[in-house]
Amino acid sequence: MEGKEDEHEFIFRSKLADIYIPNHLPLHTYCFENISQFKDRHCIINGPTGDIYTYADVELTSRKVAAGLHKSGIKQGDVVMLLLQNCPQFVFAFLGASIMGAISTTANPFYTPAEIAKQATASKAKLIITQAVYAEKAKDLAEESGVKIMTIDSSPDQNCLHFSELTKADENDIPAVKINPDDVVALPYSSGTTGLPKGVMLSHKGLVTSVAQQVDGDNPNLYFHKEDVILCVLPLFHIYSLNSVLLCALRVGAAILIMQKFEIVTLMELVEKHKVTIAPFVPPIVLAIAKSPNLDKYDLSSIRTVMSGAAPMGKELEDAVRAKLPNAKLGQGYGMTEAGPVLSMCLAFAKEPFEIKSGACGTVVRNAEMKVVDPDSGASLPRNQSGEICIRGSQIMKGYLNDEEATERTIDKDGWLHTGDIGFIDDDDELFIVDRLKELIKYKGFQVAPAELEAMLIAHPNISDAAVVPMKDEAAGEVPVAFVVKSNGSKITEDDIKQYISKQVVFYKRINRVFFTYTIPKAPSGKILRKDLRAKLAAGLPN
Ligand code: AMP
Repeated sequence: MEGKEDEHEFIFRSKLADIYIPNHLPLHTYCFENISQFKDRHCIINGPTGDIYTYADVELTSRKVAAGLHKSGIKQGDVVMLLLQNCPQFVFAFLGASIMGAISTTANPFYTPAEIAKQATASKAKLIITQAVYAEKAKDLAEESGVKIMTIDSSPDQNCLHFSELTKADENDIPAVKINPDDVVALPYSSGTTGLPKGVMLSHKGLVTSVAQQVDGDNPNLYFHKEDVILCVLPLFHIYSLNSVLLCALRVGAAILIMQKFEIVTLMELVEKHKVTIAPFVPPIVLAIAKSPNLDKYDLSSIRTVMSGAAPMGKELEDAVRAKLPNAKLGQGYGMTEAGPVLSMCLAFAKEPFEIKSGACGTVVRNAEMKVVDPDSGASLPRNQSGEICIRGSQIMKGYLNDEEATERTIDKDGWLHTGDIGFIDDDDELFIVDRLKELIKYKGFQVAPAELEAMLIAHPNISDAAVVPMKDEAAGEVPVAFVVKSNGSKITEDDIKQYISKQVVFYKRINRVFFTYTIPKAPSGKILRKDLRAKLAAGLPN
């Protein structure tokens, strides 16, 4: 990576050479491009049931699902919502949709009915594929909007379709579609640097580029190879797991061990049983492992790589896990949904190992450019100076769905995506993230958008103003807390407010503390001065 002055800009690139990226191919074609080399190898191992699907099985079933989606009325460009915990059907549905030119919008099955309805309506989803236990949550929406619900397991509800309708279709009945590299294939939701969650349009070209940046080229040991067994415990509805676990594993022909949900003892049992070699985690899982009293009971020596991303991981935690898993290399990656998502990764896994520095997030991916800009002046900064991290390359999102204004705020006219993260690049080309300029709160790697909670708070008749900011938390990294101005004469309590919010949101968006105040600090433009509130918290709890 060179920090050279390039027409008055300091632009940083990977330490590794650029590679050829076949990003004219549709995503599924790219993922299965080398399948003849590993079609009889394990592709998916379903942790909860022990069922195994080979690469040939996964490809065939995905083609059947593509034909089945077409038969059930889904057309090219239509949106299918995957409201699923990790399971093989997630993989078949995602790839099946890609094959027939449809778009998958992924959502957390723990969302409340209102959260599901918001995303399904905004994305104009035609079909929701879910588990029977979650189908009820989308029932009202189905009645109002006509969206169809399909369950992957048995459902007593006669109105739901069943996933077997898709898998029994004839794979020769896939419609003839021409997929353009710029067509959208995935539509995860993210609040980005400000405001409410928005649909992030990731194209075939973008995702192919991102996967290639991680695993392709003449340094094939970069992260994964086909002998690897990769643990898939992070939720596939988040782009980290969808891209850097599932799609990367498919591309190289590795086995993917699916866990439906995180449970520490089950995780360690499965790692030992299936000799997992790569463990992609988020910091709270790394913490759970480092602290587990049961760690010595299991043989985890098969793990050669622990990857951590989605949220910051401190040096102490890195050191603790290194001591507990001495055979494994530990490295951080840095991602953001809008960036496709990977911006930088640790190169310690490359053929020629590079030094790993504690607290670093690796170096910028190949075939991309990174710069660090002064948030006030916009000037690009040299090494060792902190500023907003920006990235440019074919892997970044096309934009936000139906939101040109937010897109223009995030991707500037020169194609730079502004992350809202503050960091610097050191003398050895390592990227360090030191702060977050944007509003986003990260609870165990999950996104909490303050604007979403603030809109709910100020809709309450007894609240006249509110602001939501992150508070540090050992287990979750951050939790949302609210500063609230009561309406005149209101006797509303902290508990009333917490309950009011928790009825409307998934568990990790619940408000952890409420601080009553007389005013919310604001700039003349009306923008909440979140920094002031964060400083107040840092100085000690306000009440
Ligand atoms: P998401 O779009 O949900 O992946 O969230 C992206 C945001 O998570 C980034 O913009 C960062 O603020 C944060 N993040 C992701 N990876 C890291 C990391 N390795 N260190 C610090 N923050 C991170």
